[in-house]
Amino acid sequence: MNSITGFQLDHPHSPDRIVSPLTAVEVAAAVRSELSFRSPQIAVQSTGHGRTSGMRSGTLIDTSRMNDVSVDPSTRTVTAGAGARFAEVMAVAARHGLAPLSGSFPGVGIAGYSLSGGVGLLSRKYGFASDNVLSAEIVTPDGGIRTANAHENPELFWALRGAGSNFGIVTSLTMRVFPIEEVLGGSIVIDLRSSPGAGQVWREWAVKQDRDMMTAASIFSAPTSAADLPAFLRGIHQLRIQLAWSGTTEFGRAERLEGALLAAGAEFESSIDVVPFARTGEIFAEPDEPHSYGSEAFFLRELGDQTMMSLIAASAPNRVPSFTVIGLRLLGGAMAEAPETANERPGTSWGHMVVFRIVTPERERGDSTGPSCLHCRRAGRPREPTRDLGPLTQFHLSVLEPRRGRLGVRTR
Ligand SMILES: Cc1cc2nc3c(=O)[nH]c(=O)nc-3n(C[C@H](O)[C@H](O)[C@H](O)COP(=O)(O)OP(=O)(O)OC[C@H]3O[C@@H](n4cnc5c(N)ncnc54)[C@H](O)[C@@H]3O)c2cc1C
Repeated sequence: MNSITGFQLDHPHSPDRIVSPLTAVEVAAAVRSELSFRSPQIAVQSTGHGRTSGMRSGTLIDTSRMNDVSVDPSTRTVTAGAGARFAEVMAVAARHGLAPLSGSFPGVGIAGYSLSGGVGLLSRKYGFASDNVLSAEIVTPDGGIRTANAHENPELFWALRGAGSNFGIVTSLTMRVFPIEEVLGGSIVIDLRSSPGAGQVWREWAVKQDRDMMTAASIFSAPTSAADLPAFLRGIHQLRIQLAWSGTTEFGRAERLEGALLAAGAEFESSIDVVPFARTGEIFAEPDEPHSYGSEAFFLRELGDQTMMSLIAASAPNRVPSFTVIGLRLLGGAMAEAPETANERPGTSWGHMVVFRIVTPERERGDSTGPSCLHCRRAGRPREPTRDLGPLTQFHLSVLEPRRGRLGVRTR
């Protein structure tokens, strides 16, 4: 993938220098070299999936070549370079009957995802990906290479797992993996034009599920007049229910959902089947070609009928500017519990995550404030820590993310 854009073609980087290191030592050398400039600026990118703005000068560190993955089956852990994508981790872990806390799309990088929370297919069972990071190797803003875990630099470790991408350049992560070889999973596709009540059926079924069930409902919509879209997408208004059941015994849960949809008069196509964990990307089947999009994520304590109906009404094809996906993900389960080692990932009281993703038409690429870039308060922006980090402050980057300015060591 191209370092300037990565997966997200919108608002590309335009750095003075691009470094593609293979080791932490090379990352540290790049940081120290940039620090010798009068106004040092550094951005780090693995896949670019979460890029929210492009840097205009300075050094871009492209970690994508740091993608070594090794599994220790005896401790059920994986150590992966910061440029590894979940597809690589899933493939290596699967050889030992193990699975990571990957999300809907295996092309996402382990770094941005795990440092900012990470809601995975197994997260209702085992928690956010951040909660299951056991150790990180990181190049801090002074150019030093440090380890952060429960024993070494514990304050930095606390902050990394949740507010992650603002504290330095992570070079590798050690994370838990879990003994899951396959799930019962797939999607159910419903035409909302003929079955507008299907969203409520999913909502009622979803909240009754235990933590072995991951489920999401994605509303796909596109204007009839969108000439830049293929014909099959124009005027689409679909509900796609995705699920992955990782329990040991299946008690007809998917059948009960299908039965409730039939009882509500919905017509649908279902592809639910046993899926090896390494192929769970097929459940959401998201496109793996780089493209241009705007997205925003937020959280709801509850998803009521009224909200569900409003989202469906608001996403009608004549009301969206371009191809739009509104993804609703059931949270709860282990994500509603405090992690074993405290961290900075967001709160535990949310019932659902809502993600808006709008594919930006070709003509507006590069214009991050263009009319079809709805919800331009982008998700993924590094957050300030919510508590004083004490001695850590000397390592706390005020900014590594280009949008917020320049590399610098905060002193207070
Ligand atoms: C198709 C798709 C599906 C998704 N599905 C899910 C899902 O199911 N669950 C979920 O929780 N999220 C999901 N996401 C969101 C995804 O987790 C974020 O976009 C995440 O930031 C991507 O991480 P990345 O490393 O691949 O991206 P990048 O854009 O490379 O990085 C994202 C952020 O992390 C920082 N960063 C990257 N590498 C490092 C590093 N080594 N050290 C420090 N900071 C670093 C970057 O500077 C940037 O701020 C999805 C995104 C897409 C595009």
